[in-house]
Amino acid sequence: MRQRSGGTVASGARRRVLAGLVTVAASLGACTSELGEQLATDGAYEGAMVLETETHVLHSPYGPMLTGYLEGVVSDSLADLAALLDVRTDASLAVRCVPVPVDEELDVEAAAAQMEIVTVRRNALGGFATERDGERTAVIYLPAEESVALMAVTQASGTIRHELAHALVGLAGVELPDRWRVEGVATWLEHLPEDDRGLPYDARLMPLGLLPAAELWRDRPLDDVLAWPPLRDLPDDPEADAERYLASMALVAWIVRERGAPTARAAVEHVAGLDVATLPADEARFRAWLDGLDPAAEVAAGLADADPRRRAAAMERLNHHGPAAWLASVHGPETDRVVVDLLAEPMARHQAAMYLQFQRGTRLDAAAVERLARAEDPASRLVHHELLHRRAPDTDMTEVLAFWESLSVVERSELWFLRSRLDLPRPSFAEIQAARAAAADASAAERAHED
Ligand SMILES: [Zn+2]
Repeated sequence: MRQRSGGTVASGARRRVLAGLVTVAASLGACTSELGEQLATDGAYEGAMVLETETHVLHSPYGPMLTGYLEGVVSDSLADLAALLDVRTDASLAVRCVPVPVDEELDVEAAAAQMEIVTVRRNALGGFATERDGERTAVIYLPAEESVALMAVTQASGTIRHELAHALVGLAGVELPDRWRVEGVATWLEHLPEDDRGLPYDARLMPLGLLPAAELWRDRPLDDVLAWPPLRDLPDDPEADAERYLASMALVAWIVRERGAPTARAAVEHVAGLDVATLPADEARFRAWLDGLDPAAEVAAGLADADPRRRAAAMERLNHHGPAAWLASVHGPETDRVVVDLLAEPMARHQAAMYLQFQRGTRLDAAAVERLARAEDPASRLVHHELLHRRAPDTDMTEVLAFWESLSVVERSELWFLRSRLDLPRPSFAEIQAARAAAADASAAERAHED
């Protein structure tokens, strides 16, 4: 189970339960409270649409379009996790997406029009995984309104991956004995593959979130995480409870690196069988490792890698860590040159455009601007126009529109920040959903063909 960044979502009694749900975590067995009853009820939820596939059964509250897209996200996460953990899933795995009313304060229309990430995150909840009568279930809470749910599914796919990770660790037959290991392993699996696009386990970059986790460890005694109590009721201190997800993940990541494991499955098994009594003796080394984390060096090496998947993954890390002062050694003209080139690579395009717009903007030097102006791909030229537009708002829009139209609907939906700056026409949600459903179909067909 996990939470996204906090926030309440419903009203009355349900608001209370759900506010708790997003801040608590653990296996369901020990629950005897109102929370446990609510979890059990949601675990039995039947979706309006039920898709039976060879690897799982999806219960969705949405219509066919969004269900198709959701199914693509679930299938991709499942395929990746199943490969990492070396398990096969079948129709005994149920994925139940339970609709939750969005925040009353959220202006759905405005959020949809702006593709507003922050507001949507607030409404992308959490979930839990459980097993009953031989059926393993991952329950995921999503916004009831379809337009908000589309954004939530796009931007909070980590939550889906986290709940599926719980279910698949169980399917792998691994018993994690305490809460920091249950949540630390699920959070580690969630952060490992989110954007490394099918890289093999040993080639993946440092998990996202490791640096904030290092910060969380600064004044935290080891016991605060090791003695994280199992879930029985809503936590007394939801904030401290939420912090223990990342803190546990950092401890798991260190154990895996320190002790070495050839596969993710072996890593999880090692963590499960670890003698916790040995950890205090290693605490100083763990803390030294946290202090010495060098994501700047890792990002720089990733950007220079020959594998386009590693370049794209490093690009995403660069944005994720962008504002941090300790990354100063990576920002600069040489990185700008590399990122301008990455704009032409479909895998890295979205993140590269984000970096140039939001991290660099008017600090781009003349050489980088010149490279953008001479580039042949439409995304690079659009970024160039956007930069020109900031300086001289009377840009000739004819050429800009032509580049915009030459991008696919999905690319246009991903480059929404260019659209809003240049006032370009936005594809409708129906168009975006149809395009994503078609892309999901195409990748499913490709997978079927590979099998
Ligand atoms: Zn969890």
